[in-house]
Amino acid sequence: MANYDVIVIGGGPAGLTAALYCARAGRKTLVLEKLNLGGQITSAPLVENYPGLPGMSGAEYGAALTAQAESFGVETAYEEVTALHPGSPIHVLTDAGEHTCRAAILAVGARHKTLGLEGEEDLVGAGISYCAVCDGAFYEDREVVIVGGGNSALQEALFLSKICKKVTLVHRRGQFRADECLVQRFHAAENISFLYPYTVSSLVEEDGEVRGVKLRHVQNGSERVEMTDGVFVAIGHEPETEPFAALGLCGEGGYFAVSESTETHIPGVFVAGDCRAKTVRQLTTACGDGAVAAMAACRYLEN
Ligand SMILES: Cc1cc2nc3c(=O)[nH]c(=O)nc-3n(C[C@H](O)[C@H](O)[C@H](O)COP(=O)(O)OP(=O)(O)OC[C@H]3O[C@@H](n4cnc5c(N)ncnc54)[C@H](O)[C@@H]3O)c2cc1C
Repeated sequence: MANYDVIVIGGGPAGLTAALYCARAGRKTLVLEKLNLGGQITSAPLVENYPGLPGMSGAEYGAALTAQAESFGVETAYEEVTALHPGSPIHVLTDAGEHTCRAAILAVGARHKTLGLEGEEDLVGAGISYCAVCDGAFYEDREVVIVGGGNSALQEALFLSKICKKVTLVHRRGQFRADECLVQRFHAAENISFLYPYTVSSLVEEDGEVRGVKLRHVQNGSERVEMTDGVFVAIGHEPETEPFAALGLCGEGGYFAVSESTETHIPGVFVAGDCRAKTVRQLTTACGDGAVAAMAACRYLEN
């Protein structure tokens, strides 16, 4: 069982940034990642909105950030964390064993919910997107479909309506679960149309790119095809906080209900990135959280 000053759980942008800061502050730091060092951004073909680094792929960004953290002495390991027991030291249990540390940073991210359709995963970046802010610019003057009916779906539809020629929102109900002001703006937008009550039953693909969606009427089961250049899926996120439920940190939707200070009520435990309750989930905000959490953890260790 190895002992560390800081263990970071999750090797995405928030976790790796936190680890980089801790290591540069002279702290023995371990990052535990269950799947992919670099985090969810590694599935993005192109990132255009990270300041100062235009035109890189998500995989390039993830690899560069991992290498940068490791160059300052951060240790990384592919292990899935299954539980954390607070105390002095903190015990971090994984599928490969156990580690101890004096401070832990939870940076486990949040998954976009998918439609669960055949071929969906392979078409990410080739017509399937889960983030209008990230990918909307690739669809300038083109036609897109957006799937969902909550605040995020409407916000994304309004955002896309300023870039795209036509936006079609597909929802399984006739009503939205969204703020009234958004609903009014949505109905007032001239280039947005609303198709309901429909679910997406399959993707229409040609030469490895999305060309359309097949829709099924929720009540009578009839099908129709809607041709489109891109499909934005906005049916919510799922934070990866289940293994930490016993810590009593989770609030609405399962996100860690922790402020921008990143500090929790548990001594030595901090939270960073998309798994934290907040309104904007982007690379910049994840890295910002990572830096704040690392500095809070280092202050905690000094005291
Ligand atoms: C396809 C796509 C395109 C995107 N494009 C952009 C863009 O252009 N610009 C932008 O700013 N943002 C973009 N984003 C959003 C951006 O990727 C996220 O906001 C950012 O990655 C969040 O960083 P994070 O470190 O908080 O979480 P994540 O990147 O989700 O990293 C969390 C990590 O924790 C790991 N983990 C979870 N649970 C455990 C556990 N129990 N044990 C060990 N490890 C665990 C996960 O495997 C994951 O690697 C995009 C996202 C996607 C999916």
